Amino acid sequence: MVRHSRVMCSTEGEDGTMRTILITGGAGFIGANLVRWWREQHPGDRLVILDALTYSGDLNNLDGLLNDPAVTFVHGAIQDTDAVAQLLRDHQVDSLLHLAAESHVDRSIAGPDAFIDTNIVGTHSLLKACRDVWQRDDGTWKPHHFHHVSTDEVFGSLEVGDAPFREGSPYAPNSPYSASKAASDHLVRAYHQTYGLYTVTTHCSNNYGPYQHAEKLIPYALHAILRGEPVGLYGDGLHIRDWMHVSDHCRGISLALTRGIAGSTYGLGGQHEATNLEVVHSLCDRVTEAFAEDGSLRARFPDCPAARGASNHELIAFVDDRPGHDRRYAINTERAATELGYAPRVDFTSGLAATVRWYLAKP
Ligand code: NAD
Repeated sequence: MVRHSRVMCSTEGEDGTMRTILITGGAGFIGANLVRWWREQHPGDRLVILDALTYSGDLNNLDGLLNDPAVTFVHGAIQDTDAVAQLLRDHQVDSLLHLAAESHVDRSIAGPDAFIDTNIVGTHSLLKACRDVWQRDDGTWKPHHFHHVSTDEVFGSLEVGDAPFREGSPYAPNSPYSASKAASDHLVRAYHQTYGLYTVTTHCSNNYGPYQHAEKLIPYALHAILRGEPVGLYGDGLHIRDWMHVSDHCRGISLALTRGIAGSTYGLGGQHEATNLEVVHSLCDRVTEAFAEDGSLRARFPDCPAARGASNHELIAFVDDRPGHDRRYAINTERAATELGYAPRVDFTSGLAATVRWYLAKP
């Protein structure tokens, strides 16, 4: 096993050291939030964004940032090892935050190939490029940091009453998506153990917030409510997720980058478990509140039940469950709290209200 001195190979953050960070998937939901958050919190760092702009990536998510001299956007795929290596050299990148992925479970069931290609082959391509550029001929490493963003879904499904997943929980992925993320986690681990790459992996729970693709639960349900269309929930709607505001995730990634120990994994969550049904009920209430606060919404969204004083909750419907649907995810964040100083700050009700206001403010 390769052991690192933390000081030698970790880049440093909170002591004022300036970093050059490659963010993969920076035009996606979490990536775009992370780029914005990072510019505010670490204004001295330079950011290079690599994104293939698949259906889930959108340059509009980076509005206002593309002319920022500290931000460079590169359109490209993580599978292109040579191009990634060139990028690392050209920009003298010392840290990598890896978020690029195929991320939607339903799509992975309909067509797993893209998940294998991006999440497994793509992650391995990044690891190879990093090793090529960051490892010297004599086997020593230039200061660097490879941060891998994973998910709590790699651990499978919990029953109500089970203890939350934690670092070291056995892997038991149930969907092609979670299996591909699990495989990428193992490759990252192997590059640390075998070659000595300085890696940290975080397993986060379900994120919500601005810029999320319309296929995911909260934006999907919000758009349906505003159009007065049924909000279809899988099965009995009682699948439980731990919801974290994306800004808490961004802070967790930053703490892991600056304080994480090489080869470690950390659980990051929102400490707010809720069923999908509870989430959508809450969303219905937040929309009703927004209509009460802003009279102009009635004219913009005339088909929303709240526009005619009716209950948004009447739109909730149940559809056939999806195959292999995990019942419950929850993640223990004690290690992240102790070693990184992480704790979620955004409570779900106010975070959801802010998210609803953000989507409503969009033209
Ligand atoms: P997203 O689908 O919104 O964004 C993914 C981004 O990656 C898009 O911009 C897309 O264009 C880009 N991309 C896809 N394939 C690429 C490729 N081959 N090369 C370069 N770029 C490519 O996903 P997200 O919700 O922002 O998730 C980001 C990361 O966080 C993923 O790794 C995901 O597995 C993980 N994660 C997300 C959640 C969540 O709740 N959203 C929870 C746990 C873990």
